[in-house]
Formats: sequence, C-alpha cells, structure tokens
Amino acid sequence: MHGRTGSSLLLSGGRVIDPANGMDQVADVLLVDGCVEAVGTALPAPEGVTDLDATGFVVTPGFIDSHVHLRDPGFEHKETIASGTSAAAAGGFTAIAAMPNTDPPPDEVPHLEDVIRRGKRDGKVRVYVIGCITRGRRGQQLAPLQELATAGAVAFSDDGDPVEDERLMRQALQISQQIGRPIFPHEEFRAISDGGCMHAGDIAQRLGVKGMPPAAEDDMIARDIELVRQTGGALHIAHISTAGTVDLVRAAKADGLPVTCEVLPHHFYLTDEEVERQGAMAKMAPPLRSDGDVEAMKAGLADGTIDTIATDHAPHTAQEKALSLEQAPFGIVGLETAIGLSMTILVEGGRLDLPTLVEKWTWAPASILGLPGGRLTPGAVGDVTILDPECRWTVDPAAFCSKSTNTPFVGMDLVGRAVATIVAGQIVYQDGFCS
Ligand SMILES: [Zn+2]
Repeated sequence: MHGRTGSSLLLSGGRVIDPANGMDQVADVLLVDGCVEAVGTALPAPEGVTDLDATGFVVTPGFIDSHVHLRDPGFEHKETIASGTSAAAAGGFTAIAAMPNTDPPPDEVPHLEDVIRRGKRDGKVRVYVIGCITRGRRGQQLAPLQELATAGAVAFSDDGDPVEDERLMRQALQISQQIGRPIFPHEEFRAISDGGCMHAGDIAQRLGVKGMPPAAEDDMIARDIELVRQTGGALHIAHISTAGTVDLVRAAKADGLPVTCEVLPHHFYLTDEEVERQGAMAKMAPPLRSDGDVEAMKAGLADGTIDTIATDHAPHTAQEKALSLEQAPFGIVGLETAIGLSMTILVEGGRLDLPTLVEKWTWAPASILGLPGGRLTPGAVGDVTILDPECRWTVDPAAFCSKSTNTPFVGMDLVGRAVATIVAGQIVYQDGFCS
C-alpha cells in the first residue's frame, strides 16, 4: 500500500493549507507514484490520472496522531492494528505513532520489529512505533534505546507509567542527545497521585474518591526540564493537563531548551465536572482538571507553547468501562472524534485559525518525531487529508471503526471532519455524507 503504485491522483480546486511551506490558497495537488509531484494552480492532468474535485474542501498534509494505543499485541479484544488503523483512516489520520504498553512491549528489537512489520502488512495508515524507555516498562533498567532507534523506534516512552527514577531519566536523555530521538514520557509522580482516579478538587471530595493533585504532573515535568538543561536531550512531554505545566514549558522554551509538548482534545475542552456526569467514561490519566487548566491549554496552543495535539486513543471494552470510577481503567478512544473536536472547540471557538490547527496535527508532530510526512513539498510522501470545515455531524459510537466505543462525547454536535484520507497517493477512506 505504501510503495510506488504507478497511479496518479489530482486533487483539484481545494483550499490547500500547508503550514510547513506557508501555503494557504486555492490550488491543485498532484500525487504521482505515492509522492507529492506538484502543488499549484491549473496543474495539467497527466494521462490516466484520477481527478478528485476538492472544491469547497480544505486539502492538507496527512494528519498525524503521535499518541495512539493500538493494544496489539496482547490486548486484541480492545483493538488491533487493523481496527485501530481503520479508525485512524476514518478519523482523517494518515499516520499514527503507537505507544508501547503492549504485551510484549517493544523493549527489545524483535518485539519492535514485529509491530513495524505487522503495521506495514495490516495497517490502513502508516504505523510508527514508540519504543520503551525501560525494560518491560518497569522503570528499573534502561531498554536498549540505541538499538531500538536503529531498528526504527521514532521516540521512547513508558506511557501509562512514569519513569520515577531520576538516574534512568537522565541516562535516557543523555542517549537522546546522542541519537537525536526524543524521550516522550508520561509525567506523574505516583507518590503524589497516590492511586487517585480523578483530579483532586471539590468534586473528588464530594464523590468521596482519591484525587490526583496537579503537582504529580508539574513536579516531574520540572525535574525532567532540569535534566534536559543538564543533558541536552530532547523531551517531548505527553498529554499535559495542568496550567502549571504550560508555565514550565513556556519558560523552558524561553531558555532555548529542546522541550516540546502535546495536549489532548479532552484537556482543552472538559473539566472534572464531566466525571460527576459520566463517571468512569470520563476517567483518564492525566485526569480532566479545572476551568483554569482548560483555559491554560487553549492559551498554550495559541501562543505556541503547546506544539502538537494528539488523541491518546485508549480503547477499553464496555465491561471494563462499566466498572466503578475507582476500578475502571483510565482512557478514552479518540481517533474518530479528534479532528471534529479540535476544529469545533479551537477554530469555531475562535482560539486558533485553521492553518495553526493544521500545523499542530501535521508538520509539528512530523518534525518532532522525524517522520517523512507533514508537508506537501514535491517529493514528500503523498499523504493528504481532505477536510470539510462546514460539515455538521453528531458523534455516534455505533459508526466507529474502532473495536471500542469508550467516549464521553456521545451525541455531541461537531462542525468539521475529514471527508477523505489519502496514504501514499491511495484513498484509504472517503466519506460522502457531507459532500
Ligand atoms: Zn500517558
């Protein structure tokens, strides 16, 4: 699917937004042999070209979700590479990076190579793999980061679990500095979050459950930024959720440190009030926090402190999410709602213009993770997302391609969605209902 196909596709008359090249204008995009051949006005169509009329739509580099839990291998009852990448294609993503909390985890080369190989075979979109920071994700011994990078790991994380041991995180960042791949950690001091199941605040008190104070996140990020200062390694912080974190990253960037970060749609939209309404369906780590934190996420996106948006797509079965707030697992699915949520809340909501939003889903993750996509430069991979910014639709989990439906957004009305997803010049998803 990702190789040279010999076919050509002309996307004509759309509004082409390509932030990496500073482009925002009506133009045609010609894809030949799986790559971008040309972008311009009134491009001649070569013989045998398939013409896709994109008039009225927005044509962008393929959206990249840099934080996905495919659950494969080990938890295929929740998701597989095939179902997860089908959900990605339907959600408008041409590439995803898979987090390593699988069984076995990619903490050694054969395990990593297995996911890369099956991603190529079964993936509807490109699958990149994030290797483990520590062996078994147990936080006790470093994984062979150099070997994993050579075998194709695009970054390193123990996501789901933090690296509590400062010595290990320092070593990981030292290696990051040498090999030029970022450390992408889940930041949470467990001694502070202390088995909590939601944000520490009035609502946790009222519900009589343990809360996770913002300091659990802030303190570890402060530690890791200090380690970046000492080592020069690259830190890409997963799913920030607190106002304090935004301040820490803003200051680190002002000091010129190689620190970047991501935010998830639910953290720039929902607060812990949602846990009172929806119980475990709104349980995630980091947790939904306060109005002030949500506002800080939007401000951080607008001023460039927050580089990327990702989903943290975390499928769980209906039975698991039907457990009590304290017993249910953390996380929600995100691939099939993320573009609609971010267009609705940030663009319709007046906080970001569309080109800035597109950059946070395309060029920003591509450049941070060193991926080949993210821009429509001639010669680049022919990965394209076509958006209908006017499409109004309602979230219906029955229509999801994901195996799991754990979302707190059921019935929500959104504006904007992907109507076509193109990987290496091939249409892998096309939705007619808004066109
Ligand atoms: Zn995480």
